[in-house]
Amino acid sequence: MSSELVIVYHRQPYEEVEVDGKIEFRENKSPNGIVPTLKGFFGRVEKGAWVAWKEAEDTSNPDFERVVEIEDSYGKYSVSRLPLTADQVKSFYHVTSKEAFWPILHSFKEKYNYDPVDWPTFRQVNWAFAEAAAAEAAKEAVVWVHDYNLWLVPGYLRQLRPDVRISFFHHTPFPSADMFNVLPWRREIVESLLAADVIGFHIPRYAANFVGVAESLFDVETGPREPANPDFVTDGALAERRYARQVTYKDHKVAISASPVGVDIDYIQSLSDTEETRAEANEVRQGLDDSKLILSVGRTDYTKGGADQLASFERLLDDNPDLRGRVRLMHVSVSANRNMTVYEEIQNEIEQVAGRINGRFGTFEWQPITLISRAIPFTELVAYYRAADVAWITPLADGMNLVAKEFVACRTDGDGVLVLSEFAGAAIELHSAILANPFSHRSMDSAIRQALEMSDDERRGRMAEMQKTIRTYDIQAWAEDQMNSFVDAGGALKDLT
Ligand code: UDP
Repeated sequence: MSSELVIVYHRQPYEEVEVDGKIEFRENKSPNGIVPTLKGFFGRVEKGAWVAWKEAEDTSNPDFERVVEIEDSYGKYSVSRLPLTADQVKSFYHVTSKEAFWPILHSFKEKYNYDPVDWPTFRQVNWAFAEAAAAEAAKEAVVWVHDYNLWLVPGYLRQLRPDVRISFFHHTPFPSADMFNVLPWRREIVESLLAADVIGFHIPRYAANFVGVAESLFDVETGPREPANPDFVTDGALAERRYARQVTYKDHKVAISASPVGVDIDYIQSLSDTEETRAEANEVRQGLDDSKLILSVGRTDYTKGGADQLASFERLLDDNPDLRGRVRLMHVSVSANRNMTVYEEIQNEIEQVAGRINGRFGTFEWQPITLISRAIPFTELVAYYRAADVAWITPLADGMNLVAKEFVACRTDGDGVLVLSEFAGAAIELHSAILANPFSHRSMDSAIRQALEMSDDERRGRMAEMQKTIRTYDIQAWAEDQMNSFVDAGGALKDLT
């Protein structure tokens, strides 16, 4: 019971590597992504703690190392590991979170799978997270809970530790009441969230949807709230990002805010400017023989719209014979969950469509699509971002989409076009991208043609605008916003700035 900041995130914050039969905890190789950002907060407090799960064959094994003490470049912190059986992981994570919550959060009612959900197990696992956080938290500590698979933690934690300040951040979209209320556990979930002190979303639309859901289910009072950091909005175009409301439920006030997670632009630019990256990017370009390179990067997920994008590429080649032999698409679709039928289906579909297009249009010298299903290490990905003429990022629904921001960050040469879906959270900031509606063939097809035909001046002008935006609200600004909201919430972190 001694940590002023407890981060509850379902994954462990390091890689476990076996060396000579002994497990070592190593810092994640890629300093990119949300985990390093969260760990960065440990540098601001005297003692921090992290709560995650770890699969264990026998959860009562006395040798299971339940709490490990870590010292790495981010500081000293403890990690509480909840031993979960393979069945618990499957039920809590793969079934309830991924098959029931994920489709609803992304507004894919038709993918929602209710039958296999085992709600008591979901409650049990969330309770275990809450107990572990309660055991670590100092008096009036901030407990920062992340994402939908831990929805019940704030409510349980409030019962266990009424003194702590609870902040909850959603990394996904949040749908409107018509969609969210499909979930039969809606009241229990939302009542738990309303036990938090702060609920954060990426963009105002998701935050407003949450308020609408709360209003549809409970007798709540809603009203404006002064934003924790009123200075972060710098111009009119970014103003729609601002959102700060307050919901009062049973006399408890909850601050609702929106702060879009950014990227570490300095780090990405330093990586993009290394000799190695430049050489790799040159090599990619030389292999293109003057064709244009379109790059598409995402996980294999129905929300990412991979098959729709490939279909648009097929129409591009069908309708513009002059582009055959002159344009290439590198489609990176990382298949993560091979064991889940829904992801296997989408992977097969992508492979099938890409194969058909290559078969229809390919020649001995030219293959229109290069499909990559493995994850490309970030240091290598940066070279492709740098080499591409166009980044084509068109998810059907996406909480934020960091790939789009990384691409912009990488382009220290000031060149490159971003075609971005209107339904990626990042679209509310990146106004100078070519915004496309992935549900419209006409919009998708004209966006990619416009990108390929864009003049040098326009490309550079748009890229400069986008770079200004992602620099103004980068990962440090996001972290600062979160910190300000903890300070606002009072408690053990009230004096931190
Ligand atoms: N990424 C990567 N290698 C790949 C594909 C993706 O390192 O081959 C990284 C990418 O750089 C980004 C993250 O995976 O940081 C994907 O984040 P995003 O927000 O775009 O989508 P998510 O997968 O979280 O829905």
